[in-house]
Amino acid sequence: MTIVAEHINKLVTSLRSFEQRYEKPAGSVKLLAVSKRQSIEKIAEAHSAGLKDFGENYLQEALEKIEKLKPLDLNWHFIGPIQANKTKPIAEEFQWVHSVDRTKIALRLNEHRADSRLPLNVCVQVNLSNEANKSGVALQDAEDLCVCIARLPHLKLRGLMAIPAPLSVFDAQRVCFRLLANEFVRLQSLYPQMDTLSMGMSNDYEAAIAEGSTLLRIGTGIFGPRE
Ligand SMILES: *Cc1c(COP(=O)(O)O)cnc(C)c1O
Repeated sequence: MTIVAEHINKLVTSLRSFEQRYEKPAGSVKLLAVSKRQSIEKIAEAHSAGLKDFGENYLQEALEKIEKLKPLDLNWHFIGPIQANKTKPIAEEFQWVHSVDRTKIALRLNEHRADSRLPLNVCVQVNLSNEANKSGVALQDAEDLCVCIARLPHLKLRGLMAIPAPLSVFDAQRVCFRLLANEFVRLQSLYPQMDTLSMGMSNDYEAAIAEGSTLLRIGTGIFGPRE
């Protein structure tokens, strides 16, 4: 078995046990393999180990991987900051975008997603730590952006995403994730199609599961250190 496959098996065992511990439905937490700055070979290994969903941050790097890995029929998620002049290739080549944080980007993605395709799955990125230099809308502005996205025919509003400032204390991680989870549940009552709470990375995924994450974005925990 490859090291990547070993990591995935351990991770799946651990997330199933956390689902039980925190009384979440079995299988409710999914895994997104964050493959930025990881090799094509390792992505193929993760696919062989059963993963279908991969997350990328850097457009040029992602487009090359998507092209080379076409035969594997993977689901690609764009999770990095989005420049307005890059929305066309993102709308064309990805199935998901987790990092929509302003109306302009939503409108442009909608415009570039072809009629013939299924709608592009979209999460609104929230800046939980209110760090001025970080991407994401303020929590209190997430609803307005959801209202905008829900009206766009080529986008499908799926949920919320956040990258909290790194915290090492478990309870502090939980407090942070809970803010996002509470807003997610509130918005779900307005938009029942919202089914994805994208939170939790290699170092905080237990806290994210405890607070109701449905999609963990794990990079180094699957692939090891980035190149
Ligand atoms: C890099 C990255 C991850 C994965 O981080 P790890 O600590 O390697 O698990 C998750 N989400 C986003 C948005 C990232 O940029």
